Amino acid sequence: MFDQACVMELINALRNELGTAYVLVDQDTLPWSKDWMGVYHWSPLAVVRPSDTHEVSKVVQLCNAHNVAMVPVGGNTGLTGATQAQDAVMISLDRLNEIHRIDPDAMTAVVGAGAILHNIHEAADAHDLIFPLYFGARGSAMIGGNLSTNAGGSNVLRYGNTRDLCLGLEVVLPDGAIMDVMSELHKDNSGLNLKHLFIGGEGTLGIITAAVLKLYPKPLAYATAMVGLRDLRSALPLLNRLQRETGSGVEAFEFMPRRYIERHLQKTDGAIEPFEGAHEINILVEIATTRSTDLEPETDGTPRLTAILERSLADMIENDAAQDAVIAQNENQRRTMWERREAAAEITLGEKSSVDTDVAVSLSNVPVFLERISPIVAEIDPTGQEFYIAHLGDGNLHYTYFASSDDLGLRDQVMEAIENVVLELGGSFSAEHGIGTSKLNSMARRKNPAALALMQKIKASFDPKNLMNPGKVYPTENG
Ligand SMILES: Cc1cc2nc3c(=O)[nH]c(=O)nc-3n(C[C@H](O)[C@H](O)[C@H](O)COP(=O)(O)OP(=O)(O)OC[C@H]3O[C@@H](n4cnc5c(N)ncnc54)[C@H](O)[C@@H]3O)c2cc1C
Repeated sequence: MFDQACVMELINALRNELGTAYVLVDQDTLPWSKDWMGVYHWSPLAVVRPSDTHEVSKVVQLCNAHNVAMVPVGGNTGLTGATQAQDAVMISLDRLNEIHRIDPDAMTAVVGAGAILHNIHEAADAHDLIFPLYFGARGSAMIGGNLSTNAGGSNVLRYGNTRDLCLGLEVVLPDGAIMDVMSELHKDNSGLNLKHLFIGGEGTLGIITAAVLKLYPKPLAYATAMVGLRDLRSALPLLNRLQRETGSGVEAFEFMPRRYIERHLQKTDGAIEPFEGAHEINILVEIATTRSTDLEPETDGTPRLTAILERSLADMIENDAAQDAVIAQNENQRRTMWERREAAAEITLGEKSSVDTDVAVSLSNVPVFLERISPIVAEIDPTGQEFYIAHLGDGNLHYTYFASSDDLGLRDQVMEAIENVVLELGGSFSAEHGIGTSKLNSMARRKNPAALALMQKIKASFDPKNLMNPGKVYPTENG
């Protein structure tokens, strides 16, 4: 419990530093007092909105001097309860939202941590470039949050995850020191590459205030299709064939089972079936090109890129390796395909007894995982129901189990069974959403003990008072 006088003293000091309008308390903190899913609720001591790195540093120094916990927050779209801030000061980066500079020749962007992902996309687009990190929450998630969760999304198979898209960082450390490693270099072996500790660090080691990002040439054209398969094992041959024929031009390869399609149809106004008939395995595939020769029409007038996709799919259908395919004929049809895929979080929102996981296995083990886990969970909870979707091109499955009751013991059993199968297959229990608080038990049970102990030592040496987003990522003895 806090000494109220100490809290008031801190709040007054924060107001002096930032101005009263940027130190929110009581009712004004409500928009920040729950997570996106509405699963976690908390009451922060205050939400502060510094305007620049120096103000972030001042805030951190004040919280540190008053021994008050701090929780950095961006768009608050994280899915693991990592911004819970009971009795802590939340430090919102939303005012550090500037896109400082785009260097079109070096293909880099220098941005503030509060820049919204969609705005970075727009800024890059103005130079015919892309920042290739795409997922449903891009309209509110901020780059500081993307980096801190090392977000993945739909294009990891071509461009890597956020870690791969970052050249440099500026970070305010837990004592308020400003660490400037805003390198624009592709090569820099001057000691440990410290930025990687903060990427995926979920705000537990420091607060990212700015970043240097890699940009890529904007594709001149996309060819996007929905493909219906009978067997998930036919998916990888399709992916590999398209990679070969397009010079590794596959941008996204996403898997939606029939149950997903049905739920999307039920829950989304205006949703349409992807095909005339129903298929168990539905793949959204997108290829892209930056070469103008790929736009040249073939004899029937079809641009070369689309023709490659058409030929591969027609050939697979003829050989019974695929059952159906629909190629988007215009941007509207492409958007419809993507909207179906990107509705995943919304259409599962509010399912009370769901066991949510975000696992990774090697690409060829995705079908093996599903074959093994189904009978196991059915035995634990025969009236529960599986629900999943996958970034199949990188082996990341969002496997959810709608348990038949809210019983914690039952849900834990399901979770442990999933972890068991994932580890048997050499996978990870956390592919892209991070640990936050929701995966602390998995972290305690499944992370290699030596790796976990080293992480805890790093945390203690950066943040000896445990004030920077405490209670997240590193399990304690109590879980
Ligand atoms: C509809 C939907 C779809 C999604 N799809 C995907 C997906 O495909 N792939 C994926 O990886 N994720 C996905 N997510 C999860 C989420 O959007 C990402 O994790 C995103 O990167 C979080 O960004 P944010 O700004 O909202 O961070 P927040 O939720 O605000 O914070 C997340 C974590 O980062 C820390 N943090 C935030 N800003 C900073 C900072 N500046 N410095 C240090 N720490 C900070 C917070 O303390 C917290 O630990 C999805 C979420 C939703 C709601």
